[in-house]
Amino acid sequence: MHATPDGSVTYPLCTTPANGGWQEVAPGVLWIRLSLPFQLDHINVWALDGGAAGWTLVDCGLGDARSLAVWDGLLRDALGGRPVERVVVTHFHPDHIGAAAWLVERTGADFATSLTEWLFARTLSAGTDPATDAVVERFYRRCGLEEEALASLLARKGAYSRGVPTVQTTLSRLRPGDRLPVGDSHWVVIGGSGHTAEPVSLHRPADGSGPDLLISGDQILPRISPNISVWPSEPDADPLADFLASLDGWSVLPADTLVLPSHGRPFHGLHRRAGELVRHHDERLTEIESLCTSPQTAAAVTRALFPRPLDPQQMLFAVGEAVAHLNHLLRKGRLERIAGQAGQQPADLYRRPNAMTAT
Ligand SMILES: [Zn+2]
Repeated sequence: MHATPDGSVTYPLCTTPANGGWQEVAPGVLWIRLSLPFQLDHINVWALDGGAAGWTLVDCGLGDARSLAVWDGLLRDALGGRPVERVVVTHFHPDHIGAAAWLVERTGADFATSLTEWLFARTLSAGTDPATDAVVERFYRRCGLEEEALASLLARKGAYSRGVPTVQTTLSRLRPGDRLPVGDSHWVVIGGSGHTAEPVSLHRPADGSGPDLLISGDQILPRISPNISVWPSEPDADPLADFLASLDGWSVLPADTLVLPSHGRPFHGLHRRAGELVRHHDERLTEIESLCTSPQTAAAVTRALFPRPLDPQQMLFAVGEAVAHLNHLLRKGRLERIAGQAGQQPADLYRRPNAMTAT
């Protein structure tokens, strides 16, 4: 925060807090950055100053011992030991919800997210059973993954619980349009879908102290394209259609909205960024369509879209993203699927409807 010569205060976006550090990014809004042990090495979480009622935290980082130790210091230093009124989670992914239950337990805060995101977290943290494992294996076999890749994906079992040791057992359910009072202002819940099924974003309308603010979670990010994936539990889903509709939805917010994303830096240019992401997915769809002039497996499409070496976590997201695009093309009638058959050709094949097949 800088005071200008006329005494007004500006919030330059040039300083990114160190991991475990924070800075005020708008009046009453702290930007806290936490480290992550992944290639995506950080997450931004937000603390909204509600005055006497206490802080509202939005997203939490992982629930591992290292993150909790960082939170210990943040509660004391960044939040000044003042109460925490509520913990809002944008979606169920471990880097967002991981430390939430610990924070709630520690501070007595209310826990809030959408019903679907909470149920996903509860389900995944309950672990798997043999029937679920079989569904997962069948899904990735239908994608055409080779044995080695398949084995390393299946070996990830239990990864969710490592990042999310506990999920809060009770929920304050958030729905689109809900207003969360925070101090003298309020934040409005914005729905959407795509990166996950029912993520929560928060919008603070402009007031005398600054422009509109949008805490976007992972639904819109400044540099990377949010992962849009199909998962084994809903193999025929079309999350890309949902995501594209959500990108359209940002047009109702003002063009000068300051976006506070979960990864990267706060940015202006919401509409421009939404347009870039629509074009990115359009290009991918066209690229896949031309690849499928000859029949392709999802694994082959994945390799074409992501030619670099991928670790098992990246592979999960990459295959899921390839299937999301394939399913979208199927729904649009731009591709057709030849179902795999056990024993002969176990993987599904995708081809253009007018592609000639050998007889
Ligand atoms: Zn996420």
